[in-house]
Amino acid sequence: MADCVFCKIVAGEIPCTKVFEDGLCLAFLDIGPISPGHTLLIPKAHYETIHQMPADEAAHLARHIPSLAAAVQKAVRAEGINVLQNNGACSGQEVFHVHVHLIPRWPEDGLGFRWPAKQADPEVLKQQAEAITKHLKS
Ligand code: 5GP
Ligand code: ZN
Repeated sequence: MADCVFCKIVAGEIPCTKVFEDGLCLAFLDIGPISPGHTLLIPKAHYETIHQMPADEAAHLARHIPSLAAAVQKAVRAEGINVLQNNGACSGQEVFHVHVHLIPRWPEDGLGFRWPAKQADPEVLKQQAEAITKHLKS
């Protein structure tokens, strides 16, 4: 994708601070880190969102998450790590090339991570689960 910043990083047209690379994926430090060690893991091929990724390529990307999360966390001596992947502008996605955020965390680091949980209606949960299952089959 000619105007995609992450494709340009993959092509070497824009520099990045690389931490890992193989034939299909690349990990590098985020240029606007939320916390020290904030790392992005991306597929080298351009997919706007996770939905477009072939399952095998998504699986390849995902298999690197445990080792990368452990290495990032150890490198900055963090106590925890958020693994986050945004799809769609309403979710916070700004770069439309699939990427997984690894965001090291410390107690009292001031970042927070609380979404307002609501009380579930069991009947609504049942309907939602049926709808999801139906879409998985189609
Ligand atoms: P999103 O909001 O799309 O989930 O996250 C995009 C992330 O990409 C942001 O955290 C942003 O700082 C990072 N980013 C955007 N442009 C560049 C760049 O040119 N280089 C690097 N290393 N990170 C970038
Ligand atoms: Zn791209």
